[in-house]
Amino acid sequence: MSPEKGTISVNTENIFPIIKKFLYSDNEIFLREQLSNAVDATQKIKRLASLGHYTKDLGELRVKVAVDTTAKTITISDSGIGMTAEEIKKYINQVAFSGATEFMEKFKEAKDANEIIGRFGLGFYSAFMVADKVEIQTLSYQEGAGPARWICDGSTSFEISEGSRTERGTDVILYINAESEEFLQEHRINDILNKYAKFLPVPVQFGTKTESVPDGEDKDGKPKYKSVDVDNIINNTNPIWTKAPAELKEEDYLDFYRELYPFSEEPLFWIHLNVDYPFNLTGVLYFPKLKNDFEIQKNKIKLFSRQVFITDEVKDIVPEFLMLLHGVIDSPDIPLNVSRSFLQADSNVKKINSYISRKVADKLSELFKKDRKSYEEKWNDIGIFVKYGAISDEKFYEKAKEFLLLGNTANEKYTLEEYVIKVKDFQTDKEGQLVYLYTVDPEGQDSYVQAAIKKGYDVLLMNSPIDAHFIHNLEMKLEKTALKRVDADVVDKLIVTEDAAKHELTEEEITKLKTIFDKAIHNPAMKVEVESQQAEGMPVTITMEEWMRRMKDMSKMGGGGGMNFYGAMPDNYKVAINANHKIISKILSADEAQQEAMAKQAFDLAMLAQGLLKGAELTAFVERSVEVI
Ligand code: ADP
Repeated sequence: MSPEKGTISVNTENIFPIIKKFLYSDNEIFLREQLSNAVDATQKIKRLASLGHYTKDLGELRVKVAVDTTAKTITISDSGIGMTAEEIKKYINQVAFSGATEFMEKFKEAKDANEIIGRFGLGFYSAFMVADKVEIQTLSYQEGAGPARWICDGSTSFEISEGSRTERGTDVILYINAESEEFLQEHRINDILNKYAKFLPVPVQFGTKTESVPDGEDKDGKPKYKSVDVDNIINNTNPIWTKAPAELKEEDYLDFYRELYPFSEEPLFWIHLNVDYPFNLTGVLYFPKLKNDFEIQKNKIKLFSRQVFITDEVKDIVPEFLMLLHGVIDSPDIPLNVSRSFLQADSNVKKINSYISRKVADKLSELFKKDRKSYEEKWNDIGIFVKYGAISDEKFYEKAKEFLLLGNTANEKYTLEEYVIKVKDFQTDKEGQLVYLYTVDPEGQDSYVQAAIKKGYDVLLMNSPIDAHFIHNLEMKLEKTALKRVDADVVDKLIVTEDAAKHELTEEEITKLKTIFDKAIHNPAMKVEVESQQAEGMPVTITMEEWMRRMKDMSKMGGGGGMNFYGAMPDNYKVAINANHKIISKILSADEAQQEAMAKQAFDLAMLAQGLLKGAELTAFVERSVEVI
């Protein structure tokens, strides 16, 4: 074959400088693209053989990556189908994008190399991000084909001539440019291979490694070992997500988890995803034990396309509330090289998203039904997902209703339905509304919790980070139900069942009490009210109205726009004076000189129960109490 020169059919003169310049940040994907092509070529020859279209020896089907630091080249070799000179012209020279003009327009908006490379079918040409010359040496599997060589220096001209390859397959030789010499370092290539090629379906060899192998016995009869260099295969060609769930044991899933996240605790359970219609998707998603710092645990799901790693940004593909899951998903049906907004609108992506949500709901429902006890034990971890899912995904909530649990301070767990039955007799107010009581801090709010329990109420534990949102959401979902924190009012008023009990105080006495307390407290944000409560209750109780506290909590969490207005508000508390309590009558009948001190002491006790007594006030209280003793 006589050498032939020509021009790559791109309308624009110099596309390669653009590729180089704009794609620099992700340039390591050049290797992923070459490896994908090499793997594809290998799988094609396997397939041809299995169909009987290729009857010669397949030989060793392996992709090799080699770095030559002297020649400054990286070579990717395969023993796949190879290409004839005609095929090179067809597949390599005619860059498969719809038009250079379109490219020129679009590259401006493109966020990363992935986007451009894929959208414009530039996989092979990504080589020019790191190389200023690329050479192909290839021999097609086809009967009578001769070896072909293609070389291109990054301009639009190329040369095709007779090649030197004697065995079926292809070498792609990248002459690494001066700015990209980092890629000639072994560890850099190792890192890239680890990231993108760890689960490629064809063995990938990079260099050799030293292994110690048995070498007879020494003179004392002990086994001897020697070091030998063996080919270093960097990938696991059969990761578990490609296998049928029936073939796998629990240990296989755990091993794979350790392989993916060597430093993580064992997962709680997992879900094997496996669909082929109406889209193709496989994968394994693990429920991790949650740590407090969610951000660290986010974005741990790896997205693959036919075992080629693509990204660990799976937002939009995985429902938001499952972003804390770990594991892998693999789907050739997810458009990989499009912008985020395009991805969101893609119908396959939408279907995949709801499929994952449904599978997770099914799995949780199964766990709940099969072994409620163990489900309850895991609830602390699972609960966050279920609550988040219930808040953010209506369809998920419809399913989650049956396995969403409410836990109380006695560590009992109830489904939504069970809980209504548990509390409806004691916790329905006179308007027929159910009132669920909760605490966010059972230790800190103990006196309120105990008061509620003494009154025969149940107190829910709402101390997970998601609960503030969950409470709000639950209230909207449940009919005629309100949630109140135990310190939202004095216990007698939390759930108003009948008209308040009477007290014996005169108007004059009430005014007097208010004056005494106002003077003792000396704080306009503390609103003193004299109320009729049970005599056995506390003399003074400090509460904050449910709605006001929620607004404050929300604004603290940085929630909702205008909410910050409430954050700027002073804390408004109610100081409820128990008109029926002995101590209050004592204060009324005490010497005028003592009244204020007694009121202050009773008030400080209430502050203490609310966890509000701090600093100098606390010290003064302790000192005063010592004196009293
Ligand atoms: P894509 O892989 O998306 O088709 P590429 O630009 O990466 O686009 O490759 C273009 C074509 O060149 C491939 O479809 C394939 O036909 C051919 N090709 C590339 N690399 C190889 C290889 N190592 N062996 C055989 N054919 C190859």
